[in-house]
Amino acid sequence: MEPMTGTEGGSHVSDVLSLFRDRGMLSRTEIIQITGLSRSTVNQRLAALLAGGLIIPAGGAESTGGRPSNRFALNRHRAILLAADIGASGFTVAACDLAGTALRHVTRSVNVWEGPERVLTDVQKAFSEIQHGEEVWGIGVGVPGRVEFGAGRVVNPPIMTGWDRFDIPQWFADSYDVAVLVENDANARAVAESRLHNSRNLISLKLGTGVGSGLVFNGQIIRGNDGGAGDIGHTRAAVPLDTPELQCRCGNLGCVEAYASGWALIRDLQSSGLPVTGVADVVDLVNRGNSDAVRLVRQAGRVLGEAVADLVSILNPEVVVISGRLAECEETLLNGVRERVYLRALPLATRNLSLTTSELGELAGVVGLALITADHIFEPDALDRRLDGEPHDADASGKAVREG
Ligand SMILES: [Zn+2]
Repeated sequence: MEPMTGTEGGSHVSDVLSLFRDRGMLSRTEIIQITGLSRSTVNQRLAALLAGGLIIPAGGAESTGGRPSNRFALNRHRAILLAADIGASGFTVAACDLAGTALRHVTRSVNVWEGPERVLTDVQKAFSEIQHGEEVWGIGVGVPGRVEFGAGRVVNPPIMTGWDRFDIPQWFADSYDVAVLVENDANARAVAESRLHNSRNLISLKLGTGVGSGLVFNGQIIRGNDGGAGDIGHTRAAVPLDTPELQCRCGNLGCVEAYASGWALIRDLQSSGLPVTGVADVVDLVNRGNSDAVRLVRQAGRVLGEAVADLVSILNPEVVVISGRLAECEETLLNGVRERVYLRALPLATRNLSLTTSELGELAGVVGLALITADHIFEPDALDRRLDGEPHDADASGKAVREG
């Protein structure tokens, strides 16, 4: 006898939804073949997902002779996910469909050290501009600092004055009765790139004002014990022995960021008398061929490359993808990174390595945040609640979210 309800072989309706998220259109027969579930169980799963509006019939080859198509796909436009990718000097917010595609986005300038109230108020205003009456099912917020993911809090951020332990989900709870996920910005980018490149072992570098890195291995974000894994910006820079030890903004001397970040390049170009106030100015100077800027960015690329080489030797990723404002210096920066990675990392670790810039560009963060949020709302418990007609997390700012 096949079970009429509940799980079969440990499978859950969320597993069937995951198939649609991963593979696009599928027929009943394909789902039976992939999952090994019985036809009656697959029929139940599909009926539940259809009733909940999570999948819809999709065009298929079988629609001959007037027969309706028996293929289905994720109903990506059933609701939207709001994503806010907050950087040191500005943020991008996007309304994304349930597959993580950014439908509309806006970018605003704001200094993250003005504190959470000011920044999140601006984020919320931007959310209301890009929301066109759709239902919102979840919110993802990316921040440029360590995150205690389960609690949705930023932890001891070096550049985010006033954000330490600030409860971001609680702040949104007054306006939105939905799950709010908080993630480190570089981790969010890594998730987006991992899905885009279909790679389960990937390092994403975010080069902007600071140096961020996100690690996805075996398809999962590697956070480390306290959310600090892969923080190469504050490892020791490999610079020539006669180079002075420079002060980093974290308080230490000689960090990678102190030589090879947006803020370090701004410092150096300013001391050469150039009128530089932001990373965009650095990129502009490089693209106009300013010799000081080109030389400094090349040097920065080599310092970054040494740090990336260590990560590559330790972790053996398939893909290293670089994004962020500073990545717009393109080859001037990347040549130095590539040179050092292939010189320093072990041949075994670089044999199949792809080192590339992001195709998603500045949308990598919001796309990753939408995907992380979708992963959360489509987890078995949350999906059961939604299919039972409870649209939101049991406690929007509480346990359901905090368990991540
Ligand atoms: Zn540092």
